[in-house]
Amino acid sequence: MLGSHLIKLIDCLNTVVNNPSASPGPDARQGARFALRADLLDFTAAPAWATTALDAASPAVRWRPDHWLLVEDGRIAGALPGATPPGDDWLKLDQRGRLLLPGFIDSHVHCPQLDVIASHGTGLLDWLNTYTFPAEQRFADPTVAAEGAARFLDALLAHGTTAAMVFPTVHKVSAQALFEAAAVRGMRLVTGKVLMDRHAPPGLVDDVVQAQTDCEDLIQRHHGQGRNSYAVTVRFAATSTPAQLAMAGALCQRHRSVYLQTHVAETLDEVRWIAELFPQARSYLDVYHQHGLLHERSVLAHGIWLDDTDRALLAQTGAHIAHSPSSNLFLGSGLFDWPAALAHQHGVSLASDVGGGTSLSMQRTMADAYKVQALRGQRLSAWTALHSATLGAAQALRLDHEIGHLSQGAVADLALWDWAVGPVAQHRDAVARGAVAGLPAQELHARVFAWLTLADERNLVASLVAGSLRQGRLDTPVP
Ligand SMILES: [Zn+2]
Repeated sequence: MLGSHLIKLIDCLNTVVNNPSASPGPDARQGARFALRADLLDFTAAPAWATTALDAASPAVRWRPDHWLLVEDGRIAGALPGATPPGDDWLKLDQRGRLLLPGFIDSHVHCPQLDVIASHGTGLLDWLNTYTFPAEQRFADPTVAAEGAARFLDALLAHGTTAAMVFPTVHKVSAQALFEAAAVRGMRLVTGKVLMDRHAPPGLVDDVVQAQTDCEDLIQRHHGQGRNSYAVTVRFAATSTPAQLAMAGALCQRHRSVYLQTHVAETLDEVRWIAELFPQARSYLDVYHQHGLLHERSVLAHGIWLDDTDRALLAQTGAHIAHSPSSNLFLGSGLFDWPAALAHQHGVSLASDVGGGTSLSMQRTMADAYKVQALRGQRLSAWTALHSATLGAAQALRLDHEIGHLSQGAVADLALWDWAVGPVAQHRDAVARGAVAGLPAQELHARVFAWLTLADERNLVASLVAGSLRQGRLDTPVP
């Protein structure tokens, strides 16, 4: 039975969902304390590559079945076994039988490309010219930018993604719109105006002086404001002149806490083009290094066509790769060598890279990552995949003090999931649980792997940002 306090809370939460712009933000419920009962799963460290055991071989996996997660003032206050609930002064949301994870982190995704997701028939460079660049020109219009930002962030939340590193467009207003929309929702967002001053249509090029002015203004207005952070955003080396790359490097020098995001070594055609444009550079990655763009807040999408010297440079500088398997498969770009990244000890996070990627779902992204490694003769574990979309991504982004896990003190960015939706997944989950007569229960990894392979946004029950419900409902019965 729902107590009156609980009904009031749920009404309040659902009001926020129905009209997110009416919410003043994550502190709207200052003083609120509630407990969510579910199966809690997160990580305390990086699990060993390809390890599927839960126990001694993978102490990094923290599995707390049927627990209460305590949330107070938007932060995680602790956890208790299901049989020992917190006191009467805690609102209790009994969601037992569901899976509670830290909200996913999508470390590389393009807001304006929702317009071109699932476009047929081209590789990267043609795809940019045919689909992406025309779509991005629309974002010069402040109304299009604002509507696009709201649609995009709500779509992330509807996929259980509560934090993201995002490419807008070259237009200052497109970055501004994302910062403002994220602030309304209380989301952790990293973004910045795209820099591109060559090899793009006239409506999509800036120049060095104006770009620098715009970046400085956006940094001053938004970087470090609430949960917004600025990223110096170089589209890729081909679309910036050496002068603009140098300006971007100077921005990173001047503002040590800003991020850098770009693409690197996605396709062989692109790598050949970069070699022609920058003949003095040892490699594609070296172009960025020479311009001061590799540091511990640098996030480079793809990194498929790197060599070991590049990988050592990533580790040395603290930069990391946002692996985007769905995009790599869809555009036919190549197969990321994850074991080589591990061998060189540089960070790897997971990313949807929509619209090259075909889904904002991080489960589908993880499933695609498994398939990419399978094509390389490797077997990615569910633990490594999930870690790279939660704690691993948070660590790579230097945000693990805030997000990516369910430890006391972390911001309560959470996603609540159904274990299975539809008859096939429900049967598979029942097999894993040992609920099918004559079949023994399987170990936890088998159940979680089946979940991430079969699940998507249909499994989402609710997304919470800093303890506030932003998508879904918390009063639906467990199927
Ligand atoms: Zn991308």
